[in-house]
Amino acid sequence: MSSLARAISAETAGAGLVLVPLGSTEQHGPHLPLDTDTVIATAVAHEVGAALDAWVAPPVAYGSSGEHQSFPGTASVGTEALTHVLVELVRSLRTWASRVVIVNAHGGNVAALTASDEIEWVACATEAHDLHAGITETSLMLHLRPESVRLDAAEPGNTQPLSEILPAMLAGGVAAVSPNGVLGDPAGATPEEGARVLRHMVAEIVERLT
Ligand SMILES: [Zn+2]
Repeated sequence: MSSLARAISAETAGAGLVLVPLGSTEQHGPHLPLDTDTVIATAVAHEVGAALDAWVAPPVAYGSSGEHQSFPGTASVGTEALTHVLVELVRSLRTWASRVVIVNAHGGNVAALTASDEIEWVACATEAHDLHAGITETSLMLHLRPESVRLDAAEPGNTQPLSEILPAMLAGGVAAVSPNGVLGDPAGATPEEGARVLRHMVAEIVERLT
């Protein structure tokens, strides 16, 4: 795996695959940091990059997070601007790399990712039905950056399935269905579970890209 943090070299000229981590800067409840999605996307991209001998670009840390906007800390650029940024990035990277894939860790970015045929992307997907700042993301962060997790502040949020809360969420954002911003329950999160989920995400993406 090579990172774009390195100097330009003969290798760069013939680069095959470049992975671009895509996260968000948004509230993740009282116990997880604002850059949770970006940390996850970056970790997944680096492990996939190591497995496929791909380059990994610096992450896009701002996404489309309008549904979280009423919570302080959220910084969103919206779907339209994000689409423009990703299309321009792909065009730029493709002048020297044969394939560019966005590695996305935030569901709110999907509308931007599907808005242009020029964007190829994969999701950091889990089997769990844990939507936001619950056991899955908390476990991942305990594995990836434990010093950023405030377990003493962790509390359950709305644990209803997405289909039930979606109408209220579309109308009033996440705050309308969960006053603490959590959709799920972080109880029981462990670094071991985080490591397991990360391996699963990486394996799914490696399989899709080969
Ligand atoms: Zn998240």
